[in-house]
Amino acid sequence: MRTFPALVARQQDKTYSVSLEQLGVGDLPPGELLVDVQYSSLNYKDALAITGRGRIVRKFPMVLGIDLAGTIVESASPDFHPGDRIIALAQGLGESEWGGYAGMQRIRAETAVPMPSSMSPEQTMQIGTAGFTAMLCVLALEQAGVTPADREVVVTGAAGGVGSIAVMLLARRGYPVVASTGRLEETDYLRGLGARSVMHRDELLKKGAPMESERWGGGVDTVGGQTLASLYAQIAYGGAIACCGMAGGHELSIAVWPLILRNVSLLGVSSLKTPIAQRVAAWESLAREIDFEKLAALSRIEPLTRIASVAEEILAGRVRGRVVVDVNR
Ligand code: NDP
Repeated sequence: MRTFPALVARQQDKTYSVSLEQLGVGDLPPGELLVDVQYSSLNYKDALAITGRGRIVRKFPMVLGIDLAGTIVESASPDFHPGDRIIALAQGLGESEWGGYAGMQRIRAETAVPMPSSMSPEQTMQIGTAGFTAMLCVLALEQAGVTPADREVVVTGAAGGVGSIAVMLLARRGYPVVASTGRLEETDYLRGLGARSVMHRDELLKKGAPMESERWGGGVDTVGGQTLASLYAQIAYGGAIACCGMAGGHELSIAVWPLILRNVSLLGVSSLKTPIAQRVAAWESLAREIDFEKLAALSRIEPLTRIASVAEEILAGRVRGRVVVDVNR
């Protein structure tokens, strides 16, 4: 019987542990699709689960990994057939259902999206939940009426996974993008992704007035805390912020003024339970709009055996762009 590596979280007597184990198909949970997994990726949330620094896992034992890309081996669903290439991400994978850090996995058909034919499994994981969420943020801003003709838009945590792809997508749609980063040494990298200019993130860390001069047409915020509060106070009339992250803090202290005097919208963005039609549409947009050369340049690949140390790197804010995980190495 074929065995394959899997990264498994266990909890015993309140002690949380994560280790690489060898599993067989017989160990996998029920689910309509048996998938030969080629790649997964490393997102901030994965790092919290791997290190045990965030309460991500809802059931034990749990195969971690919120993303996977692979080929269907067996299907009990009329919507998918053996040989179909699929992507599955978020939807509880690696949290309440076994996830992508495994050579094979069994998943519910509803979690899967057909892989766009123009993309390879590796490219879909260069995007992963981070890039998918960046696209949801761009779509949310657009739906809220933020147009490229407005003022500059800012992306916080710009050198990270969500941030890098958000900069690239917004620039591609014609928005004048300012990248906010703590790593000014990444200025050339961020300009290469399309940022018009780069600012130090400390500028947004200063606590200012509850409503400041109008500066931004909109923003994508991956940082939260004071950064989000400052940004919100500086949004121009009719502008919007797509908030998706908390890399700098989960608390938010703001006043109502920008909402009620400037018509500002604070848009929550979650990738977790995106309905299927919206998921398919977002992947179609990603397939059309991503510059795959730039995407490859902002990504690196790591074997599953190195995941623990790369998880520490991402939590320390030292990973640039995206990390693809080769689950069979
Ligand atoms: P990354 O670690 O790749 O990027 C986070 C970036 O935030 C870092 O690269 C750094 O950017 C910046 N940063 C880190 N620490 C701090 C700090 N203390 N203060 C200010 N800035 C900081 O993570 P991801 O891009 O994968 O995820 C970003 C956030 O988005 C996370 O909070 C994650 O949980 C969330 N997320 C939410 C999703 C959703 O569905 N809502 C989906 C995916 C992610 P720089 O060096 O440029 O300053």
